[in-house]
Amino acid sequence: MNQRPAGKLFVVATPIGNLADLSARAREILSGVDLIAAEDTRHSAALLAQFGITTRTLALHEHNEREKSAELVQRLREGAQIALISDAGTPLVSDPGFRLVRAAREAGIAVSPVPGACASIAALSAAGLPSDRFVFEGFLPAKSAARCAHLQTLVGEARTLIFYESSHRIEECLRDCAGVFGGERHAVLARELTKLYETILDGTLAQLSARVASDADQRRGEFVLLVAGADAGEDAAKLVEGRRVFEILRRELPPSRAAKLAAEISGAPRKALYDSGKDAEDQP
Ligand code: SAM
Repeated sequence: MNQRPAGKLFVVATPIGNLADLSARAREILSGVDLIAAEDTRHSAALLAQFGITTRTLALHEHNEREKSAELVQRLREGAQIALISDAGTPLVSDPGFRLVRAAREAGIAVSPVPGACASIAALSAAGLPSDRFVFEGFLPAKSAARCAHLQTLVGEARTLIFYESSHRIEECLRDCAGVFGGERHAVLARELTKLYETILDGTLAQLSARVASDADQRRGEFVLLVAGADAGEDAAKLVEGRRVFEILRRELPPSRAAKLAAEISGAPRKALYDSGKDAEDQP
């Protein structure tokens, strides 16, 4: 009896701007599979046409992923070879596909990655920020209050932080990051990677925020924002200096005023200085 070979799901990365970044292997697989599950079939049609790929496509997006996954897993069970792509970059990275991949793996179907472009990794590779450990945070909440609340949870994070952001929120996002992490924190803003107007700005959050606020061109396109992790050594040095200044000022000023000025001079957090003064007073 003729048995169909086992089905397989390929998770294929597509370019984030420059079409030449579609790998030879990705092209071969996209041409050879029975079906391509695409986040937006119309959007992907342009890419596929560019490479003369005529494979049939089916839409798989966040609104239908649950029901379509079951259907696709059934086809994989029957021996189909299926490729999953998103609009740009690596599927599942701030893109649909997680449910399908999980369902396929739970059904015992082989899932194979076909790696390629990913905006966060491309940005990290060119940012010059520590890259041995990093945290991918994806998109921040859209509203400022929720965004700041989330950023607060990351204040002490020592690893490099990576965020995705859109053109209509980048200005607010930089302002909130500067407000929460402090304007002096080092950051890199990677815009339109691999495209004609690719720009990678490097500076403090205060500098980047001012630059983007004053230059409309720097608010256009797609962005990856990378923020240096909290530097434990540097923060400790600021605190030592802050406490020294606080002690001097406290001889002449009320503690709250002394803490405010010492924080301004040293860059250490005001509350930490004020609390350290209280702790000293509490000593027997
Ligand atoms: N799956 C994609 C990947 O692998 O990076 C990410 C998809 S997510 C819906 C889209 C976001 O990725 C954009 O809003 C932007 O933050 C970032 N992005 C995508 N392409 C980019 C590019 N060429 N330059 C900078 N950021 C980009």
